[in-house]
Amino acid sequence: MTTLNHNYRQGRSGRPLARAKARLKREGSNVCWLCGRSIDVSLPSTSPMSWTLDHAIPLSVRPDLALDPSNHREAHRRCNSTRGNRTDVTWPKQANSRNW
Ligand SMILES: [Zn+2]
Repeated sequence: MTTLNHNYRQGRSGRPLARAKARLKREGSNVCWLCGRSIDVSLPSTSPMSWTLDHAIPLSVRPDLALDPSNHREAHRRCNSTRGNRTDVTWPKQANSRNW
């Protein structure tokens, strides 16, 4: 039996999100979806390389997906904030590093 709680409007305290975070941090792959490197979950949240929950579709675009696990991604704090609110991210792929 599935009892899905669709009560997503519990104010701005972010408690449901905190739970989603804890779960993703525990059960996720702990790999940054922006740079592809692993994330050390033991780092304090003040560290630029610490674990954060990012949203694949920015909340500025789809605030209704704030708590949707399918929109949740793991990211370094630094990568997350570098990405900011841009929707189209193009990371340099070091195409010039070929030495023949
Ligand atoms: Zn990263």
